[in-house]
Amino acid sequence: MSENYNRIPRGTHDILPEDEKYWSFVDAVAKKHSLTMGLEQITTPVIDFKNLFVRSVGQSDLARKEIYSVQKSGTEYENDDKDELVLRPEATAQVARAYLQHGMHTWPQPVRLFYLRQPNFRYERPQSGRFRQHFQFGVEMFGSVDPLTDAQLILLLWEIFQDLKLSEKIVFDINTIGCKKCRPDIRKQIVKYYKSREDELCDDCKDRLKKNPLRILDCKNEKCREIGADAPQIIDNVCDECQTHFRQLLEILDELSIPYNLNPLLVRGLDYYTRTVFEVREEADEKRQSSLAGGGRYDDLIEELGGQPTPACGFGFGYERIVEKLKENEITPPELDKPEILIVQLGDKAKIKCLPLVAKLNNLGYRTTTIPGKESIRAQLKLADRLNVEVALIIGQREAFDNTIIFRKMKEGVQETIDIERLERFLARYYKNKE
Ligand SMILES: [Zn+2]
Ligand SMILES: [Zn+2]
Repeated sequence: MSENYNRIPRGTHDILPEDEKYWSFVDAVAKKHSLTMGLEQITTPVIDFKNLFVRSVGQSDLARKEIYSVQKSGTEYENDDKDELVLRPEATAQVARAYLQHGMHTWPQPVRLFYLRQPNFRYERPQSGRFRQHFQFGVEMFGSVDPLTDAQLILLLWEIFQDLKLSEKIVFDINTIGCKKCRPDIRKQIVKYYKSREDELCDDCKDRLKKNPLRILDCKNEKCREIGADAPQIIDNVCDECQTHFRQLLEILDELSIPYNLNPLLVRGLDYYTRTVFEVREEADEKRQSSLAGGGRYDDLIEELGGQPTPACGFGFGYERIVEKLKENEITPPELDKPEILIVQLGDKAKIKCLPLVAKLNNLGYRTTTIPGKESIRAQLKLADRLNVEVALIIGQREAFDNTIIFRKMKEGVQETIDIERLERFLARYYKNKE
């Protein structure tokens, strides 16, 4: 019996070289703007304790059914820890844990962190078309209740979308969902309203009514949305502090001219959110079927995890959707750090000379490479075309013997033979004249 290795687990994907340029583009833009804003990078492990996530995300679908647990094979390490390990379903809880663990409350506040291309794992229903492993960029800021912090998050996201050339297509949906003081009452009112129309709700929402009633507000089901239109609005019922906080945030956003839309039905999926919640969606996606990024405030999470009361907020986005949008909009990411010079070699003597030359030119600052395993010059020049290098330096059998080298401009196809002793000066002059 033969096994089929030509397959990949459902809901996962490879990132192939032709796609990597999009991913690197997102990395570079996200990192640049985060660093410019003074944020610092953090990386957390792919595995962590299940109770950390369950404690943070509460009664959401995520905590109840989408977490991958990690099986520890072998018995040797069984007593390492009694806590169940899982694959990270989302990073906020982990970064909050790191904040506590490393005493970041003693650092100057706010502590502003970001993480780049971190894989998250969720056991999604296969038919939903979502990924079981997906990659996220995210930002978390701890220790500031100031609405300026919320605004800074939104500005950062806006700058990233601008630099990715996607900002013209997007709009921020924004809402406030109250704090631990005013939310219990809001929740009561919402439960009361939906109880009166329980029969009309979709099955998921019937379930949410018991466990997570606020989430009914942003159910995508047509009928549920219709019912939601008459539901009590959160914003009318939040406390004075929450009102003021939200109003100040909107004033700053108005000054920034960032396009936003007040969406009283927006609540976000996870239990830890308080006050500000926001999502980025495409302007064309009026039905709000899917978002490109999302975030909000989570002022109680650190306390929930055993720390001092510490206000916090953050956002995240998935690479897969962003890359899809870049392609859809035919945005070409810049090519970075590709070789500009290819050393082409033929024969045993050239083989010995070519790598030292690669090393020498790289040290001089020319991005240089060579391609092993090809016996003909033509085959190597073909790969030079594919790599889009500008210059090929050819050492054939004769050149190796004569201590010369052929300098070839790839695009023009013109070439000349030069003395290897002169190469350094020749290249310097060539690249200088180009400027
Ligand atoms: Zn409040
Ligand atoms: Zn529903």
